[in-house]
Amino acid sequence: SRIQNDVSQIQDSLSQGFLTFGDVTMLLGIVAFMLALDVKLAMLTFVAIPLLAVTMIVWQGHARRAFMRARRSISVVNAKLQENISGVRAIQSMNREKVNMEQFDKLNNANLQANLRATRLSSALMPVVEVLSALSISIVIMYGGYLALNGQITIGLLLSFALYAQRFFDPIRNITQEYASFQRSMVAGHRIFQVLDTKPDVQDSPNAVELPAVKGEIVFKDVNFHYNKEVPILKDFNLHIKPGETIALVGPTGAGKSTVASLVSRFYDVSSGSIMIDGHDLRDIKRSSIAKQIAMVLQDPFLFTGTIRENIRYGRLEATNTEVEKAATLVGLEPFLLKMENGLDTPIFERGVNLSVGQRQLISFARAVLADPHILILDEATANIDTQTEMVIQQALKTLLKGRTSIVIAHRLSTIKDADGVIVIEGGRITEQGTHMDLLRASGTYERLYTMSYQLA
Ligand code: ADP
Repeated sequence: SRIQNDVSQIQDSLSQGFLTFGDVTMLLGIVAFMLALDVKLAMLTFVAIPLLAVTMIVWQGHARRAFMRARRSISVVNAKLQENISGVRAIQSMNREKVNMEQFDKLNNANLQANLRATRLSSALMPVVEVLSALSISIVIMYGGYLALNGQITIGLLLSFALYAQRFFDPIRNITQEYASFQRSMVAGHRIFQVLDTKPDVQDSPNAVELPAVKGEIVFKDVNFHYNKEVPILKDFNLHIKPGETIALVGPTGAGKSTVASLVSRFYDVSSGSIMIDGHDLRDIKRSSIAKQIAMVLQDPFLFTGTIRENIRYGRLEATNTEVEKAATLVGLEPFLLKMENGLDTPIFERGVNLSVGQRQLISFARAVLADPHILILDEATANIDTQTEMVIQQALKTLLKGRTSIVIAHRLSTIKDADGVIVIEGGRITEQGTHMDLLRASGTYERLYTMSYQLA
């Protein structure tokens, strides 16, 4: 909303800015002529100026607040609209159409009211100018008429002065109107700058260096982390992952598994302690160079509009068609592609809605295989998929994990069994660590989780 509506508000005012320049020049010219004709009468006409200035100062305070409210209310309407459109499935399944419609109506109405008030305030200046202009012209005519009757000035001078006085208010009228629009733009500009001035949470330090090609050793050393100060998330977290190892993270929801994954990709910086890749502290290297060597496969992979081919090539634009095809074959996408009329060139609709969850997963795997990172972070999907696709995905996972250091937020028993190590996280701490068999023997949390999740299945 800020990018679209606020920018176009500024655009409107900028195009008017050139008109203001013409108006100011004209005003100065008229003032000079009036002073040359008669100083006393001219000063009488100018009395309107301080009155207008006072009005504007009072007006400005109210107007800014009203303009800000109007801009905020349209943002809220846009945000709600977006949420309702993208969440339409949830809305329909919960029978929320009527409730959401009513909520939206309320917001829309609030937006209407806010805009009506802003428009009223914008237009309120004009009648003030008209009244002041009428007032000062009548004063000039009355006083000028008196002077003419006494023979102090000629009728000709009075007439031409009255005409100038009228012309004097034309540019003032325009400038006032432009001033109102300028005030709206100031508010819009303020909102745009708030966005531009927002500092990213993670910034490269001035002497950050490129991360050289890594083998893939990851070390968490005494890491503590919190999103907000009151709630510590990871506590005294120590972990050593050797190059090429696959580590499965398991634990209850909210334990901190995704947080561990986000920290390795440096979406956040640790609060204390350090994370090192091949001995390089993540804070000393450029974030872009970390991203080049890590691929992240999310539970619900994000696909972009375009073709399947473009989506696979997403992280490595220079990859050849043969490489893309090879990646697709490696993860077992071929049987699916054969069923599609255009194969790899099948278009993907917004967020991949025309593909099944399994197909989306495989495309994201192919994307990661093609990017060929040394480090892979994978949040396994929990969604139920048919047995055949499940088998294809399990096989694809093996291909994906082979030869890379991998951190997997694991949900599949097969992934956990195949992993080199399993880490159990509870309440932001590592409570158990070992292989699947070690942990089963230990009869702790892992064994309990295992019994609950897998043996029942
Ligand atoms: P898991 O992946 O094990 O389910 P997460 O790492 O997602 O757990 O979350 C750990 C804790 O951090 C949870 O209590 C969650 O509410 C909190 N959390 C996660 N992301 C954020 C965030 N962006 N801002 C604030 N708190 C968050």
